[in-house]
Amino acid sequence: MSFDYDLFVIGAGSGGVRAARMSASHGAKVAIAEEYRVGGTCVIRGCVPKKLFVYASHFAEEFEDAVGFGWDVGARSFDWQTLIANKDVEIDRLNKIYMRNLEASGVEILNGRAVLKDAHTVMLDGQEIRANYILIAVGATPYMPEIEGIEHAISSNEAFHLERFPSEIVIVGGGYIAIEFAGIFNGLGADVTLVYRGEEILRGFDGDIRTHVQDEMVKKGVDILTNNDITSIRKKGAGYEVTLKDGTSRKTSCVMYATGRVPYVAGLGLEDVGVALGSDGEIKVDAYSQTSVDNIYAVGDVTNRSQLTPIAIREGAAFAETVFNNNPLAVDYSNIPTAVFSQPPVGTVGMTEEEARAAKFEVDIYKSVFRPMKHTLSGRDEKTLMKLIIDRATDKVLGLHIVGPDSGEMIQAFGIAVKMGATKAQFDATIAVHPTAAEELVTMKQPVS
Ligand code: NDP
Repeated sequence: MSFDYDLFVIGAGSGGVRAARMSASHGAKVAIAEEYRVGGTCVIRGCVPKKLFVYASHFAEEFEDAVGFGWDVGARSFDWQTLIANKDVEIDRLNKIYMRNLEASGVEILNGRAVLKDAHTVMLDGQEIRANYILIAVGATPYMPEIEGIEHAISSNEAFHLERFPSEIVIVGGGYIAIEFAGIFNGLGADVTLVYRGEEILRGFDGDIRTHVQDEMVKKGVDILTNNDITSIRKKGAGYEVTLKDGTSRKTSCVMYATGRVPYVAGLGLEDVGVALGSDGEIKVDAYSQTSVDNIYAVGDVTNRSQLTPIAIREGAAFAETVFNNNPLAVDYSNIPTAVFSQPPVGTVGMTEEEARAAKFEVDIYKSVFRPMKHTLSGRDEKTLMKLIIDRATDKVLGLHIVGPDSGEMIQAFGIAVKMGATKAQFDATIAVHPTAAEELVTMKQPVS
């Protein structure tokens, strides 16, 4: 049987690009198809532009904090169009780098939407292409619940391109995206209302982290409505009126939903080819990312294992190693460090206290809540939280959780220690770096419970 390619990748996001380049480096003839822009969600309309927006929104507090240090920063104003334009330039730059890297690796880039015809054939704009292996790395797409007027709401996709900065915004959801965008819009000067259906935001995170982030967000001016939801959205003048589950309503200039992301599988032809899907529409895969069809693999958000860019990259690399380097490699999903770029941000790795207790570990909990040094002079009422979950039997650090400035940076480094199975005694034996916030994690003396 002759093939046009050894590997055809559908989707040029984090997972697809890594898999394509690594496979090509192992000698495979590879093509990658992308219907939108090379780079995928993370680069084009996710992690990267989001982080730029987070930087932008922080300046408001920086200007305020500067006063306590003797600075007079004078009048300030913010121009949304400048931020959008500069962000677009940076995203264009990264998009080109991704394309150049693919080409330099010998991967052929094909623009257009690829659909499966059979296990070895994809259709791309009417053209039939045959490949020995097919990798599906199409990612996920925002989930928008079916409520009256949902067509008026935006998702994070549109938030990156709003023509005008919204003076008020109602954001629905209590996960990563809702929390991050609430901080962004709040920092940039909008009146932000966060509507969350549960009791406390960031479900799945450590309980203390959830309470702390929610309290700090409220202090910064985000109006958080918990145990609530939007039941309808109606156009009202230049803006919208949202009706809430509690019977109240409010006017706003923008409604944004951040209610999860679902595998982007619609219309790919998966069912016809026999690729099995799970109950949430995710492509079912084994530990090596192989689907129910032998020569078809899937990596990244479309498999719903963990919707994080570094995981998609790892899965893409493991796929290439398994299939094209004769070295079967399964990704290790334990102790994934992660950050929520909320304000203040969260860094976390390992078990939450709730998970550790549910798993019947006898745990010692170390916790420290303190005012970051910077705020002794800025006067800002913001607290940092650090927490360690220790297994009493082995002294191992089961979980490490931080809410506070630079926690994303800290958790990358502490993540190594936790991944290595470090003990509390080894944390204690590490000399503190003074004065830092992170030193708190190696100087906690007494468990709080
Ligand atoms: P999340 O799953 O994190 O959060 C979804 C939120 O929406 C939850 O609070 C959920 O509530 C709520 N929700 C779900 N369905 C409904 C509904 N029908 N009505 C009302 N509320 C609803 O998804 P996100 O969209 O925030 O982000 C998607 C994924 O992208 C994240 O899980 C994360 O893996 C990734 N991501 C990672 C980032 C990072 O690493 N910093 C940044 C952004 C995204 P409930 O809690 O009750 O289920």
